[in-house]
Parts: sequence; C-alpha cells; structure tokens
Amino acid sequence: MEKIEMICINCPLGCSLTVERNGEDFKVSGNTCPRGAKYAVEELTHPVRTLTTTVALANREGRYVNVKTSKPISKEKLFEAMEIVNATKAVAPIKIGDVIVENMLGEADLVAAADVD
Ligand code: SF4
Repeated sequence: MEKIEMICINCPLGCSLTVERNGEDFKVSGNTCPRGAKYAVEELTHPVRTLTTTVALANREGRYVNVKTSKPISKEKLFEAMEIVNATKAVAPIKIGDVIVENMLGEADLVAAADVD
C-alpha cells in the first residue's frame, strides 16, 4: 500500500490530506468536506486545473483581456494550451463570458473573465 500526503487546494482552509492507495482503491483522510476526497483521487488519476491568464488585444495596443478556461482542463495540457493562448489575439469590445477560443484542445472554451470596452 502506498501512502501519499497532499494539500487540498479547493478552498482557503487547505486541509492536509492523506491518501492510502492500494491499486485502484483510494482511502482519503484529513478532508473536512467531500470535495477534498474527490480532489485527492482526481489528482492521482487525472489531475486538472482551471487555466487563468491573459490574451493580447489586436485592436488595443499593449492591452490584454483576462481569460480563463470554462472548466478545468488536463494538467498535462497546460503548456500546449498556453501556446494557443500566446498565439491568440482578441478583438475588443469584449464582454465577460465571451468565447475567445472555442473548444480549446477538445477540453474547454477559453472565455473572457472581464469586460473590455
Ligand atoms: S477538504 Fe473541503 S474544507 Fe478542506 S480544503 Fe478541501 S474543499 Fe476546503
């Protein structure tokens, strides 16, 4: 049996989790709520992250729009996602929630996280 220690990053409480892994069986302790157990198992089987970053504006020199993925994407695809972000230019005006890149890497839309006039 393998024993893994980790911190839950789902809320500011930051519970210290202990995961006992036996093949595909997981026993999680130290979590204050069920989200911690779900996070621990996901982190060990298919880790995901919400990407938050900025995209340059094509028609506002030197300005950017805050963006994020519409849902968490595979952690292993974050660098590939950033290559797409860096090659993308958005066009203002933009409203929060506007899709900047549709279905990025087949995982999630990249959406505006702020308005830009
Ligand atoms: S286990 Fe629950 S309470 Fe603890 S850090 Fe995670 S989300 Fe927050």
